[in-house]
Amino acid sequence: MMSSSKFDYLLIGVKEYLHSKKKYPYPDLLHQGMNNLSLEITKTVSFPKTMRGFLKLLEEPVKDYLPTNWIPSEFDRDFGLLDMGSFSEEANDYLMEILLTKDGILQSFSTIFKQLEIDNQKFIRILNRLRKAYTEDEPEKAQEVYVKVRRFVIENQYATIEDIRKTFRRIEYVSIEEIGELYEDCEENRDYWYCDRCGILTEKNGQLKGLKPRLCGNHHQDLNYVHKVTSKNGLVRIKEGIRQRVCFPGMPELNLYSALEKLKTEHSEYLKDIRLYPGLDRYDIQLRFTDETVWAIDFKDVRNPYKLAKDLNGLYGEGNLRYDQSFYVISDRCVDIYPEYTKIVKEEAKKLPKQTQVVSDQFFQEQVMEKITQLQKGGNV
Ligand SMILES: [Zn+2]
Repeated sequence: MMSSSKFDYLLIGVKEYLHSKKKYPYPDLLHQGMNNLSLEITKTVSFPKTMRGFLKLLEEPVKDYLPTNWIPSEFDRDFGLLDMGSFSEEANDYLMEILLTKDGILQSFSTIFKQLEIDNQKFIRILNRLRKAYTEDEPEKAQEVYVKVRRFVIENQYATIEDIRKTFRRIEYVSIEEIGELYEDCEENRDYWYCDRCGILTEKNGQLKGLKPRLCGNHHQDLNYVHKVTSKNGLVRIKEGIRQRVCFPGMPELNLYSALEKLKTEHSEYLKDIRLYPGLDRYDIQLRFTDETVWAIDFKDVRNPYKLAKDLNGLYGEGNLRYDQSFYVISDRCVDIYPEYTKIVKEEAKKLPKQTQVVSDQFFQEQVMEKITQLQKGGNV
């Protein structure tokens, strides 16, 4: 087995262990992962004798105990696999962003992995159908349904079957059942929690934890953006895979959209049109000013600027996605924790055209305001 596969097996094994109701016998993958590690563990560390000791070790940075050749380049070696007893943010990112996109044999070994894959496919299936309709059939209608589905799952991470039924009754291209399958049942007689900034929270030893504590970490119950969701009959919540891929990055994206909508209402004589997810999400937002200039925006909420820079290309600009200026807008929470974030991205993104700007959310909104002011003065920008 390759060393990086040993890492993958260990990671999935730990995930399976955390998910299993009975703690014994240990999942096969965990067993295998522990065996591999016991043979190759860094010499300065002795392999723990108990499960409790092993779990404690997993809270430490992986560089402290894993052989260097085990650690994949995409995993930040300063972080552990666990954080306060549950899967760490870094482990979660690696699982969702790297492992799930790899074609491999892990699916056949791990039921959890297979399930994540299946859940993910459900969203992709809807998306593909809408793409087909967009290109072959009715672009306007497909676009409308796409925005409706995506907004709904971002804004309703907890929902009731009734909400889903009401919203998706008489909608073409997607069925109520399909939307329902993106959700899982909540248990009755217990409270759930929600953060306006990062979505569904989980409770562990009386503490609330979000999906990415490094980007949104303070969830004291008294804070005004933390809410209790009382369980009721028919309450469901969005499944894990969709929560990670669609909901979490979608929240600040929709906040920017709302802020721009507000500007449009106040200055409709200069900012005349805002489109969300144009071309079925070829990029995130399109702005059209009254002098007919068009701005294209893609929103990013990735903590590590080096990681982000690797994936950035110029924005697609054919047909009605044409633009005069393009922007990658970075969430303020990322820019706040990483000094020189936008500068690093600009320097490191080798495939990014020079004219594409990389700016913070706040700076971007100021630029929109500036453009409006200049139009008010009658000048061209
Ligand atoms: Zn939060």
